[in-house]
Amino acid sequence: MSRLLATLIRAITGGARTAAAGHNDRKRAAAMKQKTTGCVACDSKNVDELAPDAYRCPDCGYEGGDGYAAYQADLWMKEADALDAATKRARARELLTSAEADLAIARDQTVRADEAVRAGGDSDKLPLFLAALRALGEARQGVERAHYLAFGEPTTALADIDLGVDEAAGVSASSLPLGGGALRRRAAQIAADVNGVTAAHAAVSEKLASG
Ligand SMILES: [Zn+2]
Repeated sequence: MSRLLATLIRAITGGARTAAAGHNDRKRAAAMKQKTTGCVACDSKNVDELAPDAYRCPDCGYEGGDGYAAYQADLWMKEADALDAATKRARARELLTSAEADLAIARDQTVRADEAVRAGGDSDKLPLFLAALRALGEARQGVERAHYLAFGEPTTALADIDLGVDEAAGVSASSLPLGGGALRRRAAQIAADVNGVTAAHAAVSEKLASG
């Protein structure tokens, strides 16, 4: 399940729990853990907690942690919730336009990646896979956000998409398989995921057109 989605669902279903006493215990435990490991960028132990497992390092300015993506998604949702209905629709349309461009890139790069794998040899295929995955990731986030703005609740349609992304490092070559057969299966999976995001995109477009 994507972190954004997990955060969206948690925000919808568990909003009341965040005020409960357990929250402070978890916050303390997370802060303790981060104090032990320190900043991954400069090793400073002097980090400021932003949210559970999310921190900012005052020494080097690095922001990160396992919970950082969820923290950013929370911030985004609070902003989204505060918008009036017309602005929500306008933002959702912008996100869909941008996601459409990302989907076109993801489709194109996936075809080229698959062709490069079939051609064999030493052609550098990994940048094509990475470009496809980055564009797919952008498109999915845009469609998830547009869905939240249009429907007022998170979508569960895109939960099964696994980008193989290391949240801290972003999309990286180490998440890709090495063999030709495995790479071709990966390309087919990315193409299927592009179709999934395209279908979710269409559903939000339809909702915006009808409402
Ligand atoms: Zn630092």
